[in-house]
Amino acid sequence: MATTLQSASEADGARAFAELIRVEDVHKYYELGETRVHALRGVTVSIAPGEFVAIMGASGSGKSTFMNLLGCLDRASSGRYLLQGTDVSQLDKKALASIRNRKLGFVFQGFNLLSRTTALENVELPTLYARLPKEERLQRAKESLQLVGLGERMEHFPSQLSGGQQQRVAIARALVNRPSILLADEPTGNLDSRTSVEIMQIFQTLNESGLTLVLVTHEPDVARFAKRTIVFRDGKIRRDEPVKDRPRAAEMLKTMPTVEED
Ligand code: ADP
Ligand code: MG
Repeated sequence: MATTLQSASEADGARAFAELIRVEDVHKYYELGETRVHALRGVTVSIAPGEFVAIMGASGSGKSTFMNLLGCLDRASSGRYLLQGTDVSQLDKKALASIRNRKLGFVFQGFNLLSRTTALENVELPTLYARLPKEERLQRAKESLQLVGLGERMEHFPSQLSGGQQQRVAIARALVNRPSILLADEPTGNLDSRTSVEIMQIFQTLNESGLTLVLVTHEPDVARFAKRTIVFRDGKIRRDEPVKDRPRAAEMLKTMPTVEED
């Protein structure tokens, strides 16, 4: 009996090298008064380090529910979720919060920046939990902003920045604790097409430097910058395939008109 248990956990450990994320037969129910919404209906998927995955599907197909699960923002009703070989499906809220802060970065459609706070302070905020000296925290926040091309805008408030710049601040904030995975739910949903490609350029560059990305979008034009697309329908994965002829966002930007030139 003991050997069986041990070899099971060894198998999980060995797989962790190849799998950053492993979701096994996950179901999610929401209780809404008398009714029960079955939002995920048996989802099984693995994501390896260095992947860049676009999650697609119609509204209501379960994309956000799945992302909230990956992001340890919510728990599955049944099934397992292994993150770097650790079964996180059973962890309590405090443990989940700690994993979120150390391993995961989040970017949302609405940027979610604090409005009375500068770009630099917004980016520095997540480092407060990391118990680093103030100097080091500031340094990291500056580096993060430089990485997204906002080195010259650190003292600006969100209202003084364009939508694309605000989203870049949000990306810098998501990166500041050096996560293993960046999760983005409709990050270009509020942006025009050129600005969306600029955001995808940043994602492609981050991915090339080794970051794993999982992005939700309903726009095929955005999804094709990823390396793999997973399509949800009615709470299930209906398609999972590599992207063919993936464009380079940096190349595409050279031929796209800037907003001023329109
Ligand atoms: P998507 O992001 O693809 O639009 P969601 O994951 O948000 O889909 O929703 C999947 C299903 O679960 C939908 O039927 C939605 O109405 C339902 N749902 C999502 N969140 C909740 C919630 N907090 N409470 C009840 N039902 C929810
Ligand atoms: Mg959604």
